[in-house]
Amino acid sequence: MALRVTAQAPKAPLLVIHGGAGNITPQNLSPEEELSCRMELKRALETGWKILQNGGSSLEAVVTAISILEDSPHFNAGKGSVLNRAGKVELDASIMEGKTGMAGAVAAVTRIKNPIQAAVLVMQKTPHVLLIGKGAHKLAKKNGLELVPNSYFITPKQKKVFQKLKSKAQKQKKDGRVSERKFPSQPEIKGGTVGAVALDKEGNLAAGTSTGGMAYKMQGRVGDTPIIGASTWAENNLCAVSTTGHGEYFIRGVVAYDIAALMRYQKLSLSQATQNVIQKLTEKGGQGGIIAIDSEGNIAMPFNTPGMFRGYIRNGGELNIEIFADE
Ligand code: ASP
Repeated sequence: MALRVTAQAPKAPLLVIHGGAGNITPQNLSPEEELSCRMELKRALETGWKILQNGGSSLEAVVTAISILEDSPHFNAGKGSVLNRAGKVELDASIMEGKTGMAGAVAAVTRIKNPIQAAVLVMQKTPHVLLIGKGAHKLAKKNGLELVPNSYFITPKQKKVFQKLKSKAQKQKKDGRVSERKFPSQPEIKGGTVGAVALDKEGNLAAGTSTGGMAYKMQGRVGDTPIIGASTWAENNLCAVSTTGHGEYFIRGVVAYDIAALMRYQKLSLSQATQNVIQKLTEKGGQGGIIAIDSEGNIAMPFNTPGMFRGYIRNGGELNIEIFADE
């Protein structure tokens, strides 16, 4: 039997990013803060876009865009991350590539400047998916990633948020209103976890997410961000997903994989599948948002919070950045 080879038409590349969902409104985001965030998102999109346009991989575009946002003090990932109850930063990140189905992640790391790059090392250089603690730091160091003191990540803004949450918690404890099972409410937190999903010219999908987690979390708490299937999922010919929000709800809902499963088994469109999981999240009391793309280049960016930093670049450089719900 003759083998018929059909050449695959190159795909129109696409990059979508988020900078976290949360209590983000025009009233509580200063014009200066808003401008800085928009500029950083634009820089991340344009830099990732160049890679895709030059024939680079979706994996490379995702890691580059996320690394830029990790280095920015405006987002809750890398520099600028929230502090835990011990006044320290602990970082989580994950990456997945749709072509191979391979994935890597690090959790609760304290000295790796760009955790997303360490997640790539776990995927490419180890037989494992998730590394924590000494092993993660050792792998990063051995492969030339920059290690920094924990103080590098701590900004004056996040220190202030920490002090506020600490006095709130102390007051609640004094009043006997404290519950170990509840995070203190976090109106100060305006989002900030970062993530990216991309489709390259070869039709390969990739997804990644990076975070400092929830403010005033317990030491050692790990959220959804480094959990493959909860926060990050990429599968060629289906979808790529990155989430942000109250991680415990995303873990329990296996949100990123749920989107893929709804598309595969129930044949829902990307838009239907993402709306479906946001609805379930809302019903359970969880807050957050999602960025997702499918292999045809469709985009979905739903969320149930007042705002979510989000943007995309496609079609020869058409760029769009939005923050608030009604944009
Ligand atoms: N999902 C992150 C976590 O729970 C936080 C966020 O996205 O804001 O660690």
